[in-house]
Amino acid sequence: MLLALAASAPLSAEEARWNAPVAPFRIAGNLYYVGTAELASYLVVDPQGMILLDGGLEASAPLILDNIRALGFDPKRVRYLINSQAHYDHAGGLAALKEATGAELLASPADAELLERGGSGDFQWGDRFIYPPVQVDGRLRDGAELKLGAIRMTAYLTPGHTRGCTSWTMPVQVDGRARQALFVCGASAPGYTLVGNAAYPWIMDDFRRSFATWRKLPCDLFLGAHGSYFGLAEKRARMAPGRPNPFVDPKGCRAFLQGAEQRIEAQAAKGAMQGG
Ligand SMILES: [Zn+2]
Repeated sequence: MLLALAASAPLSAEEARWNAPVAPFRIAGNLYYVGTAELASYLVVDPQGMILLDGGLEASAPLILDNIRALGFDPKRVRYLINSQAHYDHAGGLAALKEATGAELLASPADAELLERGGSGDFQWGDRFIYPPVQVDGRLRDGAELKLGAIRMTAYLTPGHTRGCTSWTMPVQVDGRARQALFVCGASAPGYTLVGNAAYPWIMDDFRRSFATWRKLPCDLFLGAHGSYFGLAEKRARMAPGRPNPFVDPKGCRAFLQGAEQRIEAQAAKGAMQGG
């Protein structure tokens, strides 16, 4: 009972801002934005079925379903649900979305554990940010390819922000050209202990490997779990027929990753100076 009450707690002012409804739209080709103002959710469409990446907050699920329908798609055609990070603001809606779509949920082994515990026992947050637990149907290894019709998505394990943080790449047709999309899982560590973290001693090794992975991955279409990572609202406003697609932003992608890496390294250096 306590768990259910906590999971359905009213949204904070910040969460309400994140969860503000926005109209869904086609980013490019077979890729659509169906998330909220700040919490990204992506729909990839093929005649064989659809893939949905990320579920927002528990309170985002009905908005995501409405957005899918508003685009003219049937949520029941979602075959796979995938997740960037098993935190409450990206995984909170997955249980309801799984129920509504009947899709299979795929996740990395480490984040699958957190999803099935509904976010409790998080190495950083403990039981502070919990959400409805959701059963994972398949575990993704690093480099796993998810195929559905002509869709080819590749999972890259980029741990640090969560132990199983998963970034995705996929080819997308943009203005008649084949481009590569990168969905960045999460490259921040808000308030985390990065040096001498008893709950996650190798967190900096993981972060450094993840930044090395991101550096190698193609990133024409720059996307991520939070709209603010990649300037969602500003780029959406700049979309216009006959103009280059603003989401094609390899420079912005590199700058974001470089800035994130510098912040993590500075945070770790400060932690080391303070004796962990
Ligand atoms: Zn997070």
